[in-house]
Amino acid sequence: MSRGKQVDPAPAVVVLGGGIAGLCAARELTAAGRRVTVLEASATFGGSVAGHELAGLTLDAGAESFSTRSDTVPALARELGLGALVRTPNPTGAWLYLPGQDGRGQAFPLPASGLLGIPADVRDPGLTALIGRAATVRAGLDRALPLGGLLNQEQLSLGAVVRARMGAEVLKRLVAPVVGGVLSADPDDLDVDAAVPGLRAMMRRHRSLGAAVGAMRAAAPAGTAVAGLEGGMHQLTSALTQRLERDGAALHPSEAARNLARTPEGWSITTSSRTLTADAVVVATDGPTAVDLLASTVPRIQEDRPAVVPAVALVSLVVDVPQLDAAPRGTGVLVARNVADVRAKALTHATAKWPWLAAAAGPGNHVLRLSFGRGADGDDTARLPDDELQSIALHDASVLLGVDISPSDVVDWDVVRWTNALPHATLGHRDRVARIRAAAANERGLEITGAWLAGTGLVSVIDNARDRGAALARRLLAGR
Ligand SMILES: Cc1cc2nc3c(=O)[nH]c(=O)nc-3n(C[C@H](O)[C@H](O)[C@H](O)COP(=O)(O)OP(=O)(O)OC[C@H]3O[C@@H](n4cnc5c(N)ncnc54)[C@H](O)[C@@H]3O)c2cc1C
Repeated sequence: MSRGKQVDPAPAVVVLGGGIAGLCAARELTAAGRRVTVLEASATFGGSVAGHELAGLTLDAGAESFSTRSDTVPALARELGLGALVRTPNPTGAWLYLPGQDGRGQAFPLPASGLLGIPADVRDPGLTALIGRAATVRAGLDRALPLGGLLNQEQLSLGAVVRARMGAEVLKRLVAPVVGGVLSADPDDLDVDAAVPGLRAMMRRHRSLGAAVGAMRAAAPAGTAVAGLEGGMHQLTSALTQRLERDGAALHPSEAARNLARTPEGWSITTSSRTLTADAVVVATDGPTAVDLLASTVPRIQEDRPAVVPAVALVSLVVDVPQLDAAPRGTGVLVARNVADVRAKALTHATAKWPWLAAAAGPGNHVLRLSFGRGADGDDTARLPDDELQSIALHDASVLLGVDISPSDVVDWDVVRWTNALPHATLGHRDRVARIRAAAANERGLEITGAWLAGTGLVSVIDNARDRGAALARRLLAGR
C-alpha cells in the first residue's frame, strides 16, 4: 500500500475578540481555508451587535441600524441569507431637545435632509425655528464662501468644518446634540475623515458643506442615511457565528485572552484555562485591551493607547401607552448638553422608527430606549444603579415625548451597560492608525482590527475587518 503524501494542515489562526470585527475577519479566513479559533471574553458573541429579550421581544441591545453610505452591511446580510430583511426606518425623522430661555429644554423637529445634524439645505423652514434667522443666513454663506485652505489642513475636526462653513449656531444647536447622542462625542474632538468618511472629497467636488452632505444623502441607495434589519441587527452576528461553526471554526465564549507572546514558530495565547499556539493572530478586541495584549510584542503602540471613553448605559422600556401610537417625537429625540430637566442624551422610539417592531409589539405597546452617559461635565448618570436609572428614564421619556409614562405602564425593562464600546476617532486619528499599522507590519502573522482603529460604526468596522482578514489569508497562503 502506498503511503499518501502528508499534507500540512492549513495554518491555524486565533482571533481574539468575537465582536463583529473578529467574526468578519474569521469569516474571511475560514473562507480561504484557514483553521480558525475565536476567543471571546463574554458569554456571547457579537460584542456591540447583540440582542436582549424584553416582554417576549428580541431587541437590539447595541447597534440597531447601519449607514447606507455603502453596500457593506446589505452585502454581508445577503451572504448570510438575511438580505431580504433590510428595511428603511419610518421617514418621520427625529427631534432635538435644546435648552430654552429658562434652561429647560424645548423640542424641535430635526431637519430631515442632513447628515449627523449638518443641514443639506438651509432653506428648510425647520432650520430657522431651530437656530434663528441671523444664524440661518450665516449658514447659507456656506454655498457662497470659497473653501480657502480649510480642507488642506492635515488635522481637521468635524466641529471646525461645521463652524467655518455654517457658523457656531449650527454646530451648537444641531451637530453637537446629534453627535453627542449618536457617538457620545464632541464634534470638536472628532476627526472629520473618521466621523463622516468621504466628506472632504465631496466638499472639494461640490465646493460647499451643505451640497456635499446633500450629494452624500442622495447617493445612498435607500435615500435615507440609515437602514436596519427586520428582526434586529443582532441577527447579523448570530448568523455569522452559525456560518463560522458550519465552516469548521472553533468558537469559544467566556474565554478571554490574557496574554499574547511570540514563539519561534508563531504565537502563543494564554487564557484563564489554557495556552494555545497559532501561526497567526487577529487582535479584534477593544483598543485598550488590544494595546495591553500587544505590550510585549509591539511595545511602540503603547504611545498611541486610545483614550478611555465614557461608559454608556441603555435603559430599554417596553410600555403600554396608546398615546404614543401617534409618535409624538417621530423616531426619537437627541438631547443637547445643558438642558436642566433631562439627563438622557438620546431617546429612540424604536416602535415608531421600525414598523416591523411596532407590529411585533402589538397595539398600544411601545419600545423606548434611552441612553445615558456623556462622560463630560462630571456626568456619571451611566454609573447609577439599575433602579435609579429606570426612574430617571421614565421621567426623561415623559418629558421628551410630552406624554406621562408612569411605573404602572411599564411591561418590562432592563439596563445594558457598555464600556469602551464607542471609541472616539479624535483629531490625528489617521496618523495614529498609520503609526500602529507600521509598528504591527513588522510582526509576521499579526493583524489588528476593530472600531478603535477602523472608526465607530458597522460600515467602517466590517470593511476593515474583512480587508484585514483577507489580507492575512493571502499572506498565509504565500507563506509570509
Ligand atoms: C450602544 C451602541 C449602539 C450602537 N449603535 C450603532 C448603530 O446603530 N449603527 C452602527 O453602525 N454602529 C453602532 N454602534 C457601533 C458599532 O456597534 C461598533 O462600532 C461595532 O459593533 C464595533 O465592533 P468591534 O468588533 O470592533 O468591537 P466590539 O463589538 O466591542 O467587540 C469586541 C469584542 O472583544 C471582546 N473582548 C474584549 N477583550 C477580550 C479579550 N481579552 N479576549 C477575548 N475577547 C475580548 C469583547 O467582549 C467584545 O465582544 C453602536 C455601539 C454601541 C455600543
